Amino acid sequence: MTSLTYALERLGIGSQPNAVWIGGSGAVGSGDELRSRSPIDGSVLATFASATSADVPAVLTASIEAFRTWRTVPGPQRGEFVRRVGNRFREFKDDLASVISWEAGKITQEALGEVQEVIDICDFAVGLSRQLHGLTITSERPQHRLSEQWHPLGPVGVITAFNFPMAVWAWNAALAWVCGDPVVWKPSEKTPLCAIACQAIVAGVLKEMPNVPPGVSTLIVGGRDVGESLSVAPELPLISATGSTAMGRAVAESVATRLGRSLLELGGNNGMIVAPSADLDLTIRAIVFSAVGTCGQRCTTLRRLIVHESLADDVVKRLRSIYDRLPIGNPLEQGTLIGPLIDEQASSAMHLALIRAKVEGGRVHGGERLQEGVPSGGVYVRPALVEIPTGDGIVQQETFAPILYVLRYKTFEEAIAIHNDVPQGLASSIMTSDMREAERFCAAAGSDCGIVNVNVGPSGAEIGGAFGGEKATGGGRESGSDSWKAYMRRATNTINYSTELPLAQGIRFDI
Ligand code: NAD
Repeated sequence: MTSLTYALERLGIGSQPNAVWIGGSGAVGSGDELRSRSPIDGSVLATFASATSADVPAVLTASIEAFRTWRTVPGPQRGEFVRRVGNRFREFKDDLASVISWEAGKITQEALGEVQEVIDICDFAVGLSRQLHGLTITSERPQHRLSEQWHPLGPVGVITAFNFPMAVWAWNAALAWVCGDPVVWKPSEKTPLCAIACQAIVAGVLKEMPNVPPGVSTLIVGGRDVGESLSVAPELPLISATGSTAMGRAVAESVATRLGRSLLELGGNNGMIVAPSADLDLTIRAIVFSAVGTCGQRCTTLRRLIVHESLADDVVKRLRSIYDRLPIGNPLEQGTLIGPLIDEQASSAMHLALIRAKVEGGRVHGGERLQEGVPSGGVYVRPALVEIPTGDGIVQQETFAPILYVLRYKTFEEAIAIHNDVPQGLASSIMTSDMREAERFCAAAGSDCGIVNVNVGPSGAEIGGAFGGEKATGGGRESGSDSWKAYMRRATNTINYSTELPLAQGIRFDI
């Protein structure tokens, strides 16, 4: 992995970057100083004058102006722009991964995986740029043609979380661009350098393609007030927001008041059922990757293990022995599997959740703060396993940290009921060799989540499928399949090529 200084130099980013970007042109933000700190050791990576809501009108004007031309550019030419963005991500893959590791604390493998996800979604979007198709529908009237067209929607506001500081933007931006929409990005205030690095990549492509209006890609690095200003802006027909359920609720209300569209990707509380016929070796590996990967800071992190009572003791014993020797520490060092939590706030949330779990009868294994063998200045914890008798209390909440609650079940019906009995509905999985159980889990009365897996953990989705969840997860779908439809408006066309004027439903209206 390249060093951060070298990576930033290659990407053309200085130590005091601008917070407001229209294509390749940067401007100083009008707000207070914002520091990007590394969760690895607390060091300051960059300082900015943060943007505020006062800086929002400039990016909105640029994106509206860009939309006027971008919407008329043929889809495959918009795809060429995205193809070049993807290629530059390939070229700078190591540098970008280094920025992710330093600013979000991901281990090298996961940081590289995130950049790969950006490349994958760009490839997907390039293909899509030739396939934005509508239906032709049989008309009830003679010599009439009834069909659908999909048109660009307008500038899209994209608000993102810290834990996937590049991929979530790319899921939105690559699709929005091929659909003919400019993007206004408000990244997490915890990972501004990652966003500036992505903007620098796009700026390089804009230089190569002078006919693309710079306002197709704007970036505004600021706090919650900037997100709120975007949510109320009528210039943005779609707000795609990724983050906590509390944030999504606030955004949804603001967007609904102005009758805009929102695409919400919010918190998860993901479960796995381990049935008696499960292949236990495979199951244990799936549990550990899903529960402790990214230090429990994925929206799809496994948080609830629902194990058949006949296996529970064995599963807990095997997990405890693995948890005791997990390599935790500097995410840049080879062999480390678990890096730091993002900040002190995450550590206190974990601590408080474990206290509450104990009060509710939970037996907690692990979960302690580590001081030795880890870089000082960062927040490092041992992932926690909590055997808990009931799913009613703390288990209902998403604590964004590596806590895995273990619940026991007797019957398959009970397992499904426990599984679905949380407010969130993002990702789910079942480990079983019983085909009937697997199919029942995937069927209408099975898992109520947006992602339903069999013999694979809940985390680590591919970009080809639609990604998102139900209930308090917000109902949005991003990335693959037909998620692109969220970024376009549909026009239904009726074309009469006859010399008569027959009315639908056989209505007669003679004049
Ligand atoms: P967060 O909710 O604290 O912040 C997310 C973003 O929303 C940030 O950019 C923040 O500045 C902005 N924001 C906060 N309040 C706002 C408001 N009222 N109006 C507009 N913008 C506002 O989330 P986080 O701590 O950065 O990320 C962790 C959360 O994100 C977890 O709940 C996780 O499950 C969720 N997440 C979900 C998905 C998904 O696809 N479902 C993906 C990644 C993360």
